[in-house]
Amino acid sequence: MSRDAPLFRRVAIIGLGLIGGSFAAALRERGLAGTLVAGSRSARTLEQGLAMGLIDEGSQDLALAVRGADLVLLSTPVSAMERSLAALAPGLSERAIVTDGGSVKGSVIAAARRTLGDHFSRFVPGHPIAGKETSGVAAADAGLYQDHRVILTPLAQTDPAATRAVRELWTALGSEVLEMTPEHHDRVLAETSHLPHLLAFSLVDTLARQGDSTEIFRYAAGGFRDFTRIASSDPVMWHDIFQENRQAVLDALALFRDGIDGFRDAIAAGDSDALMGIMTRANTARAHFLALNARTSYTQARHSDNESSMSDQHDPTFVVQPGGRLRGRARVPGDKSISHRSIMLGALADGITEVEGFLEGEDALATLQAFRDMGVVIEGPHNGKVTVHGVGLHGLKEPGKPLYMGNSGTSMRLLTGLLAGQAFDVTLTGDASLSKRPMERVAKPLREMGASIQTDDGGRPPVRIRGGQTLKGFHYDLPMASAQVKSALLLAGLYAQGETSVTEPAPTRDHTERMLAGFGYPVRSEGPLRAVTGGGVLRACHLEVPADISSSAFLLVGASIAADSDVLLPHVGINPTRTGVIDILRLMGADITLENQRDSGGEPVADLRVRSASLKGIEIPAELVPLAIDEFPAIFVAAACAEGDTVLHGAEELRVKESDRIQVMADGLSALGVDLEVFEDGIRITGGVLGGAEVESHDDHRIAMSFAIAGLRATAPITIRHCATVATSFPGFADLMRSLGLGLEVQ
Ligand code: NAP
Repeated sequence: MSRDAPLFRRVAIIGLGLIGGSFAAALRERGLAGTLVAGSRSARTLEQGLAMGLIDEGSQDLALAVRGADLVLLSTPVSAMERSLAALAPGLSERAIVTDGGSVKGSVIAAARRTLGDHFSRFVPGHPIAGKETSGVAAADAGLYQDHRVILTPLAQTDPAATRAVRELWTALGSEVLEMTPEHHDRVLAETSHLPHLLAFSLVDTLARQGDSTEIFRYAAGGFRDFTRIASSDPVMWHDIFQENRQAVLDALALFRDGIDGFRDAIAAGDSDALMGIMTRANTARAHFLALNARTSYTQARHSDNESSMSDQHDPTFVVQPGGRLRGRARVPGDKSISHRSIMLGALADGITEVEGFLEGEDALATLQAFRDMGVVIEGPHNGKVTVHGVGLHGLKEPGKPLYMGNSGTSMRLLTGLLAGQAFDVTLTGDASLSKRPMERVAKPLREMGASIQTDDGGRPPVRIRGGQTLKGFHYDLPMASAQVKSALLLAGLYAQGETSVTEPAPTRDHTERMLAGFGYPVRSEGPLRAVTGGGVLRACHLEVPADISSSAFLLVGASIAADSDVLLPHVGINPTRTGVIDILRLMGADITLENQRDSGGEPVADLRVRSASLKGIEIPAELVPLAIDEFPAIFVAAACAEGDTVLHGAEELRVKESDRIQVMADGLSALGVDLEVFEDGIRITGGVLGGAEVESHDDHRIAMSFAIAGLRATAPITIRHCATVATSFPGFADLMRSLGLGLEVQ
């Protein structure tokens, strides 16, 4: 694809090999350069470049080659750059920008500083992270930089206009341009590129020098070939890199030696926990890395093998066709709250805890990863099965880096409590949306227990916890009904001297208390008071996570509002602190029955059957509000399809969820033509006809799924933007809804 005006009038490329030749080919193909000139030590290379149509002119005199050029790219081996720069410098015109493609930045910058004089401020160090095992001009490839990254390492004295121009050029070649310091570049590349090349060269060399190497290579299978592919790279170039980035490579090698020594010791000692620890950590870290690289979310990459078609795309849009009905049986993913806690308590228990039905969503995986980072061996999840090798209450290890909680408020708040009494310092971070959510509500009472916790401006993450504090049990009257704050304090109470007790103004989820009891840890309950005494022991157990009632809510509402629907939801958790949504929908006239009620690991479960019903508006009873707090987006859709007004008060908590759920739902419903009134602590919704519209989920999974089911009663398609976060709580939502009859397309 070529453009009208070239970005540079005359471009000189010094060193016309793979990197330089590909640069020329890409510039030419896209019409980004007027005239292309090469400077090279060998006449043969120049002739080849001319013959291939890559360049218009060539010269072995580098000063002559760069004369009149407004951009110069240096792409010789790094060790030859100083000599090349010294040779070309006399030919540079005042306005020429010089950049390079060298794989090491520190030594190239030092060479440029020594040779370019005043022109050094026009030197923009760069490194395209693209390449092949073949070298030389014949390997030039116009597509080499497309969808690859280019790192620029400008210095304080680098002319920002020159950096901008180089950035613009690489962007025009289809690359993603990043900036970092040269030191950071050299360290990161030493660890991620130079070290693996060193290991590949070394492994092949070591085996090749064995007595009968032909014998070894004859039986070397795919693993050997995969691992050593990069040992086919150009030895000259790699010789250079190891020389020029000496210190960073040595540091990376030292780090690796520590790792491999640990691996060796684990094998020698037959330490199977340590071995599983190394490999499960590596395995998930690699999945995470592949996900980042594919620019999809963590869960999407993990599920890419078994979820269909477009649902794996990055940040999908849902398009829902109007009408339809829901019919069939649907196993909803595991309860998120219980999944989080199964990992936390399993990790702190003595012995091995087996978990089934674990929710493989982003949030619960963030908790799982955090405990891996603190040295806990966790196998899985495989089809919802997780094995947690508990380390005991005092067995967590200091993580080597901040613990990343992704989008999960539950992980961050509960872990703040659980980690307040550890011996080590730890920092908890989250994504952009979590970083805006209030954390002082847990930090403040924990400080009263003696914890040392710092939050950022406005009481938001990151949360920095200083270890080695002595916690003292205390009593706290919760100012707001919050299961997360209650749980954080009870978890901190496991580490406190004496008793820690909490009273709540209204009942909230009691999964923490139930599960503590399930792990053999006594919890004292008296009316609204819950208390634990520090210094006990958790004993490993077997847990079957029930299907999540919050996720089931979308089906309860969907099947209620769509005519001729009948859906069975097996093994759903019906913990009385969570069933507010069933009570509210029943008050509105929904036809929901609980069949086969039973107990599963301390949690009550049932099979839920829901059939279409004509709903009517109600005043939502205050005592049900905290018991249905996460389900209101779905309930609002029910209200919009009910006859008359539904009024909600006392739900200000909704404003600080993953989004401001009152405002965001109000905006979307208004766009669908629903009559409503917003209050500070709630909403009035008048039921009526839903039209079609394009609505925004604000990266909130429950908002996205609520508008998806609204399609069942809409008169025109509903388009919902930014639905990637649906995977946080309901992986497979789109496929499941389609299988029941919703006309949902993922784009
Ligand atoms: P290449 O294909 O071997 O090309 C190197 C070019 O530099 C050739 O034109 C060669 O000239 C010239 N050259 C070699 N030694 C020289 C010397 N002593 N004095 C002057 N010119 C010399 O190498 P490449 O893969 O393009 O790599 C070029 C640069 O890009 C290196 O700094 C490398 O670190 C960096 N880089 C490489 C990759 C990769 O994967 N290959 C990726 C990113 C960055 P002749 O034609 O006369 O031999």
